Amino acid sequence: KRTPMVAGNWKMNGSRSLVESFTNVLNSHTFDNMDVVVCPPAGFLSMFVAQTYSLGAQDCSAQDNGAHTGDNSVQMLKELGAKYVIVGHSERRQDHDESNETVARKAHKALADGLVPIICVGESLKIREAGQVNEFVGEQLGAIFAILDAEQVGQCIIAYEPIWAIGTGKTASPEQAQDVHAFIRETLANYQSDLALNTRLLYGGSVKPDNAAQLFAQPDIDGGLIGGASLNTDDFIAICQAA
Ligand code: 13P
Repeated sequence: KRTPMVAGNWKMNGSRSLVESFTNVLNSHTFDNMDVVVCPPAGFLSMFVAQTYSLGAQDCSAQDNGAHTGDNSVQMLKELGAKYVIVGHSERRQDHDESNETVARKAHKALADGLVPIICVGESLKIREAGQVNEFVGEQLGAIFAILDAEQVGQCIIAYEPIWAIGTGKTASPEQAQDVHAFIRETLANYQSDLALNTRLLYGGSVKPDNAAQLFAQPDIDGGLIGGASLNTDDFIAICQAA
């Protein structure tokens, strides 16, 4: 049985005071048989006192330390308290031109230096309307398989985030999400059979307290990657409780 996970992606939001209130409220809750992760901007990581949950970063460099202005190495993120790191979020693919290969190299570096990558995949509305979702997501996964061996893939978490559902209030229906999750699991099985059973797959895109339970009830959805609703402690905790 896969342990459910709910991860909050704060994106470029938050403040010292939000970190403080979040830390206090979250630590007063216990989350049984599940993993709760908060991914704030890197500069806030060390302000958290995370007891009942874990921390993740939103991106990492694929390089070691060195002349890469503005980037954070995996080692640094670990020193700041992160256990996980999101790689390949669609906003980074868009804003920073990250290719499938760059994303795969970041995942590889994260694993090599001791962080668990949460690898994001997902299509635009145009791709969906053209009926090319599986092909597109399959290519994103193929780039990962080109660089990570099956044992390494087995240590990753994969998040399916359809771009058209991110921040739009248009959640994928549980069936739409389940279909792609099943496809991802099948693709993992083709790479190596054990991967399908054990890899955790998260859904992301306008997950809210009132739709979380239905999404998480799907057989191939093991939890969620939460944007907007992760900035509100009550909403975030309600979503965690739905997992
Ligand atoms: P929203 O939950 O705001 O749609 O964002 C989803 C997301 O991109 C999480 O990484």
